[in-house]
Amino acid sequence: MAHWIKKSVGMDIRSNNDRKVRDIVETTLADIEQNGDTAIRKLSVKFDNWDREDYRLSSAEIQACIDSLSPQALKDIEFAQKQVRHFAQIQRNSIQDAEEETLPGVILGHKNLPLNSAGCYVPGGKYPLLASAHMSVITAKVAGVPRVITCAPPFEGKLAPAIVAAQAMAGADEIYALGGIQAIGAMALGTKSISPVDILVGPGNAFVAEAKRQMFGRVGIDLFAGPTETLIIADESVDAELCATDILGQIEHGPDSPGILLTNSEKLARETISEIERLLKILPTAEHARIAWENFGEVIVAESYDEMVSIADDIASEHVQVMTVDPDFFLNKMTNYGALFLGPRTNVAYGDKAIGTNHTLPTKKAARYTGGLWVGKFLKTCTYQKVMTDEASALIGEYCSRLCDLEGFSGHGEQANIRVRRYGHRDVPY
Ligand code: NAD
Repeated sequence: MAHWIKKSVGMDIRSNNDRKVRDIVETTLADIEQNGDTAIRKLSVKFDNWDREDYRLSSAEIQACIDSLSPQALKDIEFAQKQVRHFAQIQRNSIQDAEEETLPGVILGHKNLPLNSAGCYVPGGKYPLLASAHMSVITAKVAGVPRVITCAPPFEGKLAPAIVAAQAMAGADEIYALGGIQAIGAMALGTKSISPVDILVGPGNAFVAEAKRQMFGRVGIDLFAGPTETLIIADESVDAELCATDILGQIEHGPDSPGILLTNSEKLARETISEIERLLKILPTAEHARIAWENFGEVIVAESYDEMVSIADDIASEHVQVMTVDPDFFLNKMTNYGALFLGPRTNVAYGDKAIGTNHTLPTKKAARYTGGLWVGKFLKTCTYQKVMTDEASALIGEYCSRLCDLEGFSGHGEQANIRVRRYGHRDVPY
């Protein structure tokens, strides 16, 4: 049986926070719905020290942001966007429309139709997370969405040039400087200057993720993509420095980000704890990472690789990095994860920033029922059917009529009866 060398002590904090966030989001969205632009402006001043009447950035503002970046920064963004576009295109090519004759004269099919508009949230409260612009905007464009708009909060009261540049280079049609609940409310409900969208996508902090959740139904959402989580699965084929670096590399996102080591080695477990303590003294972003580690950090020692699979599936973490002698064992056996990073040569930061897979991924165990953002989230799979012969219409009509009768639906039944009479020249046999 596995044992825990370090347990998360933050579960109470988490459920208390969840409750508070839920209430704040509910009240704020109601305020936005009732007071529209006035509420949005007030919130933007309060949380982001940002006061303007129109949140849409002009072409001149966008160009100034692009021009302010170094040629190397622009090349780096281009590289990342190229990788994201390439993989999104591969995924798009894997989605096929379908049409088959399922009975003589009966044609059933489906088409994958792009949504008409998407609102992409790009987080920027603590760090200007420009990578989220590639992940959402490019993926929507590859899916064929004609109107793709973006919202990102200003960073410390000013536009974040790298985010704005990445949004524009990714192909966003409208770019707004707006953050948090007010951005989600504005994109979902619409304002004087923003027409509402059909789906909200992209990651964000707990307020953003909860606001998306509460708007679901009024608009579509991609998935629940809140504060980042990471699980490292490792054996003694790697050392503690690598494990500690990869945990800290993710929990620096914020004080509510869990980082977990799951190993079959007591020695690696203990050394990783010491290594994290050592690195926390020199990590420039230790302010967030230390609280996250103290509250939500876990170190688990399992007895076998099979037990590691079972614990990992139960955790259903957003990111799962596997650094064992045979990483493919976990690829073949695991069923609950947002994304897998296989072997020590890759890591979560590669996926977050540059390699090309999407970094908007399910958190809080949502990996039990969904994968991450991908082109499929911007497509509706819509069915159609045709009945090509009189015989087929009468045949289906007979079954349909009797089934309607079982349900007591006489109106439905009559839709079938009339066709059996008209195309089959008979009454339905009971
Ligand atoms: P953010 O843009 O998500 O949030 C900033 C906004 O939060 C601000 O504009 C403000 O309006 C709002 N806000 C802050 N405090 C508030 C309060 N007390 N009440 C109401 N609103 C408030 O940026 P962030 O905070 O830096 O968070 C980014 C998050 O995105 C991190 O938690 C990170 O882990 C997560 N993330 C998740 C994924 C994923 O795929 N799951 C990927 C990348 C990032």
